[in-house]
Amino acid sequence: MFTDSHCHLAMPEFLDQLPGIRQAMAAAQVDRALCICTTLEEFGQVHALATAYDNFWATVGVHPDNEGVQEPSVDDLVRRAALPRVIAIGETGLDYYGMEERKGGRSIADLEWQRERFRTHIRAARQSARPLVIHTRSASADTLAILREEGEDGGAGAAGGVFHCFTETAEVARSALELGFYISFSGIVTFKNAQHLRDVAAFVPLESMLIETDSPYLAPVPYRGKQNNPSYVPFVARQIAELRGLALEEVARATSANFDRLFLRAEPSAAASFHLPS
Ligand SMILES: [Zn+2]
Ligand SMILES: [Zn+2]
Repeated sequence: MFTDSHCHLAMPEFLDQLPGIRQAMAAAQVDRALCICTTLEEFGQVHALATAYDNFWATVGVHPDNEGVQEPSVDDLVRRAALPRVIAIGETGLDYYGMEERKGGRSIADLEWQRERFRTHIRAARQSARPLVIHTRSASADTLAILREEGEDGGAGAAGGVFHCFTETAEVARSALELGFYISFSGIVTFKNAQHLRDVAAFVPLESMLIETDSPYLAPVPYRGKQNNPSYVPFVARQIAELRGLALEEVARATSANFDRLFLRAEPSAAASFHLPS
């Protein structure tokens, strides 16, 4: 019933727990998950998950926070994107959060390499006709500008994709939607102090919305602060259902159909595994 559109399961500490996590997913009716790659070095493990289990898929990309790792070329990404069960490019984007503490006091101008890396991913996505999984934090203006500069305006030839773990304003959401992108909400939408985000989640059209856990981070209430895993994605769906006055099943159905349309390039009718109450 539910689809976790963004999780990180290839971390070594997770691999031992995988059987338990998959059991918990089944019990929670989380049928499917997209396993997100953050370095070329870990791509092999991420891809192995997607080839071992028919309800996992993989992406290829290098996260904007990762330094001292192999820098991807367009070709590196395109080649891996052509492998079976690799359905998207990312996560990629820009992260200007915590310039002092996290980026060693560098300036935004110093992060030109991040912007170059982002452009590389966009070009690879367009070349391989795969959608982008976009991470943007404290950098929404540049993220939107670079997408536009690279031709991502929702028109012909656009790769499209999703703004994952959305925490920005309604205005940024509107711009992303105008460019033809989906918006994905994580467990943050359940946090007490996230009313601004609930307001955004109330406004984003259901047909442009995805849900995710971003496991192992950002566990939703009531598990906030604990290790997250895909079986918790229904808590995100429940919050969205509540604030929009919808049935939980409706949010599950719509976000899963959106996943099909965006990542599997399938019509919603292909999603035969949903059981709606009649
Ligand atoms: Zn991210
Ligand atoms: Zn992530």
